[in-house]
Amino acid sequence: MASLPSSSSHRIEVFWHEGMLNHDAGTGVFDSAMDPGFLDVLEKHPENSDRVKNMVSILKKGPISPYISWHTGRPAQIPELLSFHTLVYIKELVQAEEAGSGKTLCAGTFLNPGSWDASLLAAGTALSAMKCILDGYGKIAYALVRPPGHHAQPTQADGYCFLNNAGIAVQLALDSGCRRVVTIDIDVHYGNGTAEGFYHSDNVLTISLHMNHGSWGPSHPQSGSIDELGEGEGLGFNLNIPLPNGTGDRGYEYAMNELVVSAVQKFEPEMMVLVIGQDSSAFDPNGRQCLTMEGYREIGRIVRKLADKHSDGRLLIVQEGGYHITYSAYCLHATLEGVLNLPVPLLSDPIAYYPEDEALAVKVVDSVKQHWKNIVPFFIEDQSVRYGLSLSFLE
Ligand SMILES: [Zn+2]
Repeated sequence: MASLPSSSSHRIEVFWHEGMLNHDAGTGVFDSAMDPGFLDVLEKHPENSDRVKNMVSILKKGPISPYISWHTGRPAQIPELLSFHTLVYIKELVQAEEAGSGKTLCAGTFLNPGSWDASLLAAGTALSAMKCILDGYGKIAYALVRPPGHHAQPTQADGYCFLNNAGIAVQLALDSGCRRVVTIDIDVHYGNGTAEGFYHSDNVLTISLHMNHGSWGPSHPQSGSIDELGEGEGLGFNLNIPLPNGTGDRGYEYAMNELVVSAVQKFEPEMMVLVIGQDSSAFDPNGRQCLTMEGYREIGRIVRKLADKHSDGRLLIVQEGGYHITYSAYCLHATLEGVLNLPVPLLSDPIAYYPEDEALAVKVVDSVKQHWKNIVPFFIEDQSVRYGLSLSFLE
């Protein structure tokens, strides 16, 4: 086995803590925790520890292992959470933990004994990964965390998420002097919590590529549509790219190159955050976007190129969803291969290829681009006349 690459650009600092395995959302009919009584086999909640055990395992035993440097995460302290969440909301979580009996915070989202400690570890581990980059120890860091975070909003839990791990890490970067941070969220669901946290800010450009699932109730009022662009100073700094079911590898590559690359180039971030979910894969129980390992690999390459160009290679990767126990691990491996910009794939795809409808994706991406050209300050020539906004990063 090769020795660990010495250059920080050819190495990924992975932050992990096994205490995160102690969050157990139980069993039921899919993610409902309900037992109607007529099924012999109830399945584990999709967000279970097995999925993450395999992610840890493939990074330790797979061919990417020589490129990985392992670090132990830590729990976040309550004051650190208040950079993103309200005190009222955090108190609600602490009280639910102290009650000790488990609590349903919203559909499919269960805070059981062990969940709060795991959540603190997820947030603290994301902070450790960001700090590693900010301190100059590494260029590329990956926070391998659960429970996930990108649906958690400043004031409420949503979609299996309690604390917004990526959002808290972004806030640390801002508080440490970074003036512009971009988050690129490729989880199959809209990163509504992260978007909400920075909706009024022009310091953070939040971009989300997702299945066009819309709002799913009071915990997730955001629609993820192209019209949710941010507000006030943040107008134009939340870019949503809802993609049709079955978009596939080439459609995602087209969306990345036509929309994400242009936006990031104009924003010129000092720090990049790639928010990953393997639930965009072809075999995920929660998603229908049909990405394969090669699609994830290409997204990794594109993001790495952007990081090298704009943020001096500084890139934080934060784990979100991804519920197929086997394929999520393989797709993670492929994403990190892409981020490392390795010349040839290290691992072949173990599952069959899936057909995709490139023409459909192209049509949608082109319509989003036209919409941005008409409305988003990034894509119109004389923004100051139309909006009177301060867009110093365009100068
Ligand atoms: Zn997801």
